[in-house]
Amino acid sequence: MDFDVIIVGIGGMGSAAAWQLARRGHRVLGLERFDIPNAMGSSHGVTRIIRLPYYEDPRYVPLLLRAYELWREIERLAGEQLLVITGSIDAGPGDGELFQGALASARMHRLTHEVLSGTEISERFPAYRLPPAHRAIFQPEGGLVVSEGAIVAHVRAAQAAGAEIHGRERVEAWEVATDESVVVITDKARYRARRLVLAAGPWMNELLPALTTIAMPERQVLAWLQPTRPELFEPARFPVFNVAVDEGRYYGLPVYRVPGFKFGRYHHRGETVAHADDLRREVDGEDERLLRSFAERYFPDGAGPTMALRVCMFTNTPDEHFIVDRHPQYSQVIVASPCSGHGYKFASVIGEIIADLASGNGSTRHEIDFLSLDRPELKIR
Ligand SMILES: Cc1cc2nc3c(=O)[nH]c(=O)nc-3n(C[C@H](O)[C@H](O)[C@H](O)COP(=O)(O)OP(=O)(O)OC[C@H]3O[C@@H](n4cnc5c(N)ncnc54)[C@H](O)[C@@H]3O)c2cc1C
Repeated sequence: MDFDVIIVGIGGMGSAAAWQLARRGHRVLGLERFDIPNAMGSSHGVTRIIRLPYYEDPRYVPLLLRAYELWREIERLAGEQLLVITGSIDAGPGDGELFQGALASARMHRLTHEVLSGTEISERFPAYRLPPAHRAIFQPEGGLVVSEGAIVAHVRAAQAAGAEIHGRERVEAWEVATDESVVVITDKARYRARRLVLAAGPWMNELLPALTTIAMPERQVLAWLQPTRPELFEPARFPVFNVAVDEGRYYGLPVYRVPGFKFGRYHHRGETVAHADDLRREVDGEDERLLRSFAERYFPDGAGPTMALRVCMFTNTPDEHFIVDRHPQYSQVIVASPCSGHGYKFASVIGEIIADLASGNGSTRHEIDFLSLDRPELKIR
């Protein structure tokens, strides 16, 4: 046998899994079709939001609490800051899903939080100009994860623990052999392993055709605009946010390593494609106009000249929950597709869960039934 575990995709999830598996003593091979890190998949653009009062579903909160512990651990190991605490704001109309969902999560898990109005948010964080009657949850432990930095940190930790990682090597096919081992064929070689982890982000549906209409790549655009009052957009004065406004649902982060206030709109212009390679990667005037008009209305001191615009990909499931499970037919194959636009913050704990599923009897102490492949919402036949 060449390896204990082969991981396809060394992005956010695959890099974390490589470390978790290698530190347990497994012989690991990680295969990445582009560079490590790269700006082709879902994890580029320097930073990602991490927040605890999870409006999407309170079942994510225990996973997040463990994710924080593991972010701190990899940060210590790497000797660099990968988690920056700014506090988080989840705001919207008082009867809306975003505010009500965040409030329910905060209460259920007894998270430290304050309920503020749009006016009170502006008094405390003057960059914000949300509608005065908006209701917001302020949670002090929210912040950002340095996403590409964390991929590098995870890969270096995995390599130090003995993992072999190959960039620029594309997996073309995989199959389960009669002896139950997994054979992986790339554009350069053929490998055999006991277990296989599929963590290919927006390309998941190519490696697993059952996900063809279930894990759908979608074009997103991120904007960084130069603040006209930069002091208001520093991490110490600018909590990360998720807000529901008339124009849709938006998220944003303080100035960090790029000279601009960063934000984006969930499901930007609704441009879903069947295959990630067909996604339009250029940015056009309409992308910029749409994002700029949001900043001008709700963060006017952040709407200076454009610093950067980047295209990135979501991988959406029908219910917008992740897929983290063993393959229904081949239990030695682990499927990890944590995206729908909110997966990065979990990468550290997903790495641990993948390592659990790929080790021993494949069980995990983490509660992940709601992320299973056979949940009815996915309608996999
Ligand atoms: C614009 C944007 C903003 C976001 N904001 C947030 C946020 O604030 N907070 C948050 O928690 N989440 C956020 N997300 C979601 C989060 O970034 C994703 O959930 C996460 O990056 C997914 O990681 P991944 O490992 O699944 O995918 P990726 O990091 O893309 O990794 C998959 C890797 O697999 C490789 N690969 C694919 N096919 C093959 C093959 N055949 N052979 C070898 N390698 C292959 C790819 O090249 C890629 O490097 C955002 C996403 C986007 C696009």
